[in-house]
Amino acid sequence: MASTNVSAELKDFADFVQAGASLAAFTQLKMGGPAELLVQPRSLPELRAFLKRCFDKELPFRILGNGGNVLVQDEGVSGIILRLAAPAFTQISTEGSRLKAGAGATLAAVIAHATHHGLAGLETLIGLPGTLGGALLLNAGDRSSDIGQFVRRIEVIDNQAAVRVREHDEMRFTSAGTILEDPVLLSAEFDLETDRADAIIKRLRKAWIQYKASQPYSYQRSARIFKNPPGLNAAALIEQTGLVGTTVGGAQVSDRNANCIMVETAATARDVIRLIDLIRTRVQDRFRLELELAISVW
Ligand SMILES: Cc1cc2nc3c(=O)[nH]c(=O)nc-3n(C[C@H](O)[C@H](O)[C@H](O)COP(=O)(O)OP(=O)(O)OC[C@H]3O[C@@H](n4cnc5c(N)ncnc54)[C@H](O)[C@@H]3O)c2cc1C
Repeated sequence: MASTNVSAELKDFADFVQAGASLAAFTQLKMGGPAELLVQPRSLPELRAFLKRCFDKELPFRILGNGGNVLVQDEGVSGIILRLAAPAFTQISTEGSRLKAGAGATLAAVIAHATHHGLAGLETLIGLPGTLGGALLLNAGDRSSDIGQFVRRIEVIDNQAAVRVREHDEMRFTSAGTILEDPVLLSAEFDLETDRADAIIKRLRKAWIQYKASQPYSYQRSARIFKNPPGLNAAALIEQTGLVGTTVGGAQVSDRNANCIMVETAATARDVIRLIDLIRTRVQDRFRLELELAISVW
């Protein structure tokens, strides 16, 4: 569909649709071009009305959380980018040992809220960048646990723009992500354990130190690039190719985790893509193994 038609189809939603908005601030790498249309509804009715229009008119859209797993290309992204950043989608509440949070809430806010209410379980996810929606879709984790194991149910919007509840057993949480047919994750409810806040904080501190020891520093703009091949560790493979510290333009292979690329202010998405290609080629040459991208290139 031609761009002008997309804009015309969404003209009723002008209050929360922006043409040509920069996406850089909404990604961890802080780079890349604008979105043709950035849609940021302020309420559930607005979100549903927008989605209904997309489904009726067959307008494709993509959802952007905190862009921890997204590389936006320099020329920008055509089509519609949806963000659930309004307060209506970031609420967090607790009832007994259950915690409910909107998909737009950051994982950090969810963990802080749980700790404040003496609810334990999510500690090992500390440090992972991103929103609950992104973390759920990717079934973030890969250390001692993943987010899916704590999910009791998820609220989604289905492909008719209706809100539905999916129980834990209706979804599959795999190492490759969560298998779910609905297009939009709206919120999630977790079953957690009650514990003393000081005990939770102690575990959080330990998990944070362990995680940060193998990550670029917080002040460095970086992203994790490849999936771990079955039974192997992508960072260890890349290290063995001797590429640690290698730069292409403003992008560099991290010396703290070779599976992370760090970028300087002047770096372009093209630099990152060229460095990704170089890493892939070296790993392929040395191990006859094709690394699969974890990050999505938009
Ligand atoms: C430096 C660094 C280290 C990392 N280390 C780890 C790690 O150790 N373990 C690990 O598991 N991950 C790791 N990640 C990846 C991290 O888990 C993800 O970046 C993050 O959880 C995704 O959340 P996000 O909000 O950034 O999602 P985004 O990157 O914005 O989106 C990720 C995907 O989720 C989709 N999505 C987002 N919100 C919704 C929604 N509401 N409904 C439907 N789809 C949605 C997007 O369309 C996209 O396909 C790391 C990332 C970085 C940058």
